[in-house]
Amino acid sequence: MKIIMLGAPGAGKGTQAKRIAEKYSIPHISTGDIFRANIKNNTELGQKAKTYMDKGELVPDELVVDLIMDRFKQADAANGYVLDGFPRTIPQAEALDKALEANGESVDFAINVEVPDENIINRMGGRRACVGCGATYHIQFNAPKVEGICDTCGEKLILRDDDKPETVKNRLSVYHDQTQPLIDYYNKKNVLREVDGTQAMDDVFKAIVDILG
Ligand SMILES: [Zn+2]
Repeated sequence: MKIIMLGAPGAGKGTQAKRIAEKYSIPHISTGDIFRANIKNNTELGQKAKTYMDKGELVPDELVVDLIMDRFKQADAANGYVLDGFPRTIPQAEALDKALEANGESVDFAINVEVPDENIINRMGGRRACVGCGATYHIQFNAPKVEGICDTCGEKLILRDDDKPETVKNRLSVYHDQTQPLIDYYNKKNVLREVDGTQAMDDVFKAIVDILG
């Protein structure tokens, strides 16, 4: 089962990808992990990727696809995988499809975890992080015992810049510009499945399992 996860930052697709991987015994593959592993093991592809990253440049799509295809060859991916964080753009999706087609393969499902922007902005805006130990809380879903104070170390809790509404709005706008076209792309290929990501996490997962069978 070859699965691609789509969804805005903060929609919870990473969490769902992990649960899919567990239930179906397939690896959860994120490009960040692949980069780190290849650079750590000093592979040829890792060295190539590092020359771009050291210069602060984006790793070209073809190289990212090479790294991903290389990861797919590992034994644990024999029955498929759930790919998280890639592709993000149409050229990336096309490059991935081309590489898969060369092996006579294709994507089985592109799962889009749908959450309206307003919900994401509210969710992120409720997050709090401890300045002392880094523990994270949520004023609604995982509140500290005393408002604004860390349960573990007693330090102050703050709203991180990353979670501020303006930052989240900017990230979402980049996401929509780049990734929305992917939804049409996979829809045309008949592999797109939409899931309501505003539900409780267990219900989102149940909906995904209903799709995957
Ligand atoms: Zn703390």
